[in-house]
Amino acid sequence: MQAMNNDPHDGLLVIDTHVDIPWPEGPSPFEDGPRCVDLPKLKRGRVSAVCFAAYIPQGRRDEAGHEAATSRARAMLGSITAMAQGEAGGMMALSAARVEAAFAAGRPGIIPVIENGYAIGKNMALLDEFAAMGIRYMTLTHNGHNEIADAAIALPMLGDEAEEYGGLSDFGQDVVARMNELGVLVDVSHASKKTMMQAARLSRTPVVATHSCMKSLCDHKRNLDDEQLEILAATGGLAQITIVSNFLRPKARASDLTVEDIVDHVDYAVKRMGIDHVGIGTDFDGGGGVRGYMNAAQTPNLTAALASRGYGREEIAKIWGGNFLELMRKAEAVAGERKAAAD
Ligand SMILES: [Zn+2]
Repeated sequence: MQAMNNDPHDGLLVIDTHVDIPWPEGPSPFEDGPRCVDLPKLKRGRVSAVCFAAYIPQGRRDEAGHEAATSRARAMLGSITAMAQGEAGGMMALSAARVEAAFAAGRPGIIPVIENGYAIGKNMALLDEFAAMGIRYMTLTHNGHNEIADAAIALPMLGDEAEEYGGLSDFGQDVVARMNELGVLVDVSHASKKTMMQAARLSRTPVVATHSCMKSLCDHKRNLDDEQLEILAATGGLAQITIVSNFLRPKARASDLTVEDIVDHVDYAVKRMGIDHVGIGTDFDGGGGVRGYMNAAQTPNLTAALASRGYGREEIAKIWGGNFLELMRKAEAVAGERKAAAD
């Protein structure tokens, strides 16, 4: 007998590559609450794994500022790890194999990440410490330049000029190399175009924009232009489409948009780069959400929209998780080479 259920979301390994956590405190992630993402909603929406971000707002680049950023990152990563505790919890998913294991176990996989390299200040040892705490990617910047690189959006209130280094700083170049060695993916969302292009050329593991949209469809500083898509495709990188309304359409509000607007950006990215270079990073609880996809429980609505736009089972599987899993494997292989050489 053929299965009667034709739900395109059934049996998919789904990874959302960017979600924020409440901070300094908020509703329990174990209960269905007011947030876009909590563990019950992930289960209902059949989301297999999520990159949960320790988001560090850019502040002053003095000793006190850097110390505060580092402490905040440590505490937030602790809070992310705590989501994996107990029967109702998720499962830490620090490798591609562990993401697959969480998927097989039917428990949300938890992938800790850092948003803003400001968390390490100018101290490479902190990158090693955070990698040991499990982070699988780090955005080089947030809004505002830091010790690593220029951001897409400068913060004049912190004394930023339009650009400071013309891309990566010397320290930033070393950071990219060390991230490769540690198996931590280089996230270029929030970075300036020059930073992004330099990182894409320099990084031995392909880079990823975990939550960005297409500049040709919406001219926002945070979005990727065609030249950036070209280098991502050429180097094996990924553009993970985000669902923040004003990145999807100029000056739009969440209530103006639907999942169709997200699929427009997916379509554009796939046409430019091919199916192997595109994914989804919602930025839920950090500004993401459109009508019909306001929280993780509604994830199947986007899958249905992709299917009705003509994407087949294998293509949807790549967009929703296959491509990011593959990139995790590449990062593990590059880190492994180094380890093998050292042994
Ligand atoms: Zn962000």
